[in-house]
Amino acid sequence: MNRKYRKTVIAGNWKMNKTPSQTKEFMTALKAIMPKGRWCDVALCVPAICIPAAVRAMRETRVGIGAENCHFEAKGAFTGELATDMLVDAGCKYVIIGHSERREMFGETDATVNAKVLAALEAGLTPIMCCGETLEQRQNGVTEEHIAMQIKLGLKDVPEDKIRKVIIAYEPIWAIGTGLTATPEQAQEVCENIRAVVRKLYSSKNARVISILYGGSMNEKNAYELLAQPDIDGGLIGGASLVPEKFVQIIEAANQPTV
Ligand code: PEP
Repeated sequence: MNRKYRKTVIAGNWKMNKTPSQTKEFMTALKAIMPKGRWCDVALCVPAICIPAAVRAMRETRVGIGAENCHFEAKGAFTGELATDMLVDAGCKYVIIGHSERREMFGETDATVNAKVLAALEAGLTPIMCCGETLEQRQNGVTEEHIAMQIKLGLKDVPEDKIRKVIIAYEPIWAIGTGLTATPEQAQEVCENIRAVVRKLYSSKNARVISILYGGSMNEKNAYELLAQPDIDGGLIGGASLVPEKFVQIIEAANQPTV
C-alpha cells in the first residue's frame, strides 16, 4: 500500500450468498464491530436483491454498497439485467465488473467488460474491474501479457480524467475460492505490472494514484502480508467477507501501518 498517493480499499464480494434478511443481520453485526476512528474505504458488493437492505442498514456509515454486475446499455429489452442508473438510484457506489466467474460462466469478454466500465463511469459508479490469469496461463509463463491485454482492452476509451475513478482488482483465477493464495511476491509482481500498463496507457501521475486490489482467498490471516506490498492497495474478498468478524479483521489489517 502507498497511502500517500492512493486510496486503500477493502471490498467484499458476496457472490450468490445471503438473503435480504441475512443482509440486515450481517450489517447490524458489522456495524457493532467496525473499528473506531478512521479506516480505509470499505465496500460491500452484494446480490442485487440485497442492495436495498444493505443501503438502508449502512446509510449513516462510511461503508459503500456495490453491485456485482451491471449491463452496459442504459435501458431496454434485456430481461433480468440491471442498468447502471438503477444501481445508482438504489444507492450503490461501486460495481464489480468482469469477475472471472462472470467471464467463465456468463460469457463476458474484454469487450463487454470495457462497455460496462464505460457505462459505470458515465453513471458515476466506481467500477472494480477484475483481471486475472488461469493456472495454465501462469504455468505457460503468459500471465503478464494476458493481464496487460485485459487491462488495455478493459480500459479502452476511458478518458484521462476518469481513469482515477477506476479500481483494478487482480484476481488469479486459481486462487479464487480455492484456499490457495498467491504469495505476496507473486501478487506484488502482477500488481506492479498492472501499474506499469496504466503508466504506459495514461501517465505516471495516473499510475501512481490508481488503486489496485488483490483478490483470491484473502483472509484475516494473510491480509496483512499481502497488503504490505507496495503495489497492493487493498483486497477484493469473497468467502471471508461473509463473516463480519473476519471482514473486520481484514479492514484492521489494512489500517495498520506497513513497515
Ligand atoms: C472473489 O470472489 O473475488 C474472491 C476473491 O473470492 P475468495 O476470496 O473467496 O477467493
